[in-house]
Amino acid sequence: MAFSLYVHIPWCRAKCPYCDFNSHAAAAWPEDEYVAALIAEMRARSANPAFAGQKIATIFFGGGTPSLFDPRSIAAILEAAADRFGLEADAEITLEANPGTVDSPKLAGFRAAGVNRISFGAQSFNPETLRFLGRIHGPDETRTAVRAARRAGFSRLNLDMIFAVPGQSVADIMADLDATCALEPDHVSAYNLTFEEGTAFFTEMRRGRIRPLPSDEQAAMYAAVRETLPSRGYAMYEISNYARPGEESRHNLTYWRAESYLGIGAGAHSFARDAAGPGGRRWWNERMPAKYIDAVRKDGMAETGGEAIDSRTAASEFVFLNLRLREGFAHGQFFRRFGCSPDEVFGRQIERLAADGLLADDHSRIRLTERGLEMADSVFAEFV
Ligand code: SF4
Repeated sequence: MAFSLYVHIPWCRAKCPYCDFNSHAAAAWPEDEYVAALIAEMRARSANPAFAGQKIATIFFGGGTPSLFDPRSIAAILEAAADRFGLEADAEITLEANPGTVDSPKLAGFRAAGVNRISFGAQSFNPETLRFLGRIHGPDETRTAVRAARRAGFSRLNLDMIFAVPGQSVADIMADLDATCALEPDHVSAYNLTFEEGTAFFTEMRRGRIRPLPSDEQAAMYAAVRETLPSRGYAMYEISNYARPGEESRHNLTYWRAESYLGIGAGAHSFARDAAGPGGRRWWNERMPAKYIDAVRKDGMAETGGEAIDSRTAASEFVFLNLRLREGFAHGQFFRRFGCSPDEVFGRQIERLAADGLLADDHSRIRLTERGLEMADSVFAEFV
């Protein structure tokens, strides 16, 4: 058995107005103290029976903006992970990077540290859209960063895109997709902009200063993305993710397949599927970076909450996470995990959603139909 490790780096140069991640705008940050805390937390977690004795299959540095950190810090974290747990020979090690925070030496440093996959938050190639989104980079910085990453030896490269930004048209989306494909990433994540509570955009929306695009326009944009990327060689394998053959994000597949992962750092969440009973256990860390560092100094960990998951909840999470995948899940997978067929737990919902044309169930696999993809959130709600 092997597991996935998530490492949260909680700082950004500026806070984007749509972002509800645990990220804090800062001009300076206590990098050495934070790295020491991450390493100490790993040491403490390596005794956890859910992960002890297992190697790491994937590591993901997410944020925030992990590319703000010095490559030496990333190397120190990776060395500690290898030391504490061991890395599988072909471990996938991804780092999220903001194109406005990297140059050639830095990218070469990340590659030398052992990072073998880089994910750039490109979001758009339209300068006005990027300004509206509060991004600190322009389209040319993304192009330069991608070229520098290739030179640094990154053969695996993702570009994150956002669509359904107020003011955008389908033609704008097509132009963004053209610009994205021209850079030949092997993976593209394309997210529909959402207005999450607690963000500046949410407040602006409440005040009537910005208005989300009408839902039919958003659906047309999603359809354009879903049709265009596969036609350029990027198969859709998840609701928002597209990859060339074999280039799917193994780390994110861990989440969608409801497998175990260890999250370290401020606000990180973890899940151990075989801990604390049939449904597993999840827990989460202190969100504020300074408090996280203090807690780890004192106790070796900064866990502020956790819960055992009952089997019904675990089954429901398994279904709606796996349904995010284009291949859905096999009846047999569900049976092996929960000791019964999905029909025994969710027969009514599956039958109704299949009758409504939202789910396809051939009694071997269950997955979303094309229509189900467009109404995914309401499908998932049926299983909660
Ligand atoms: S750079 Fe990313 S994590 Fe940071 S504020 Fe913007 S969207 Fe959020």
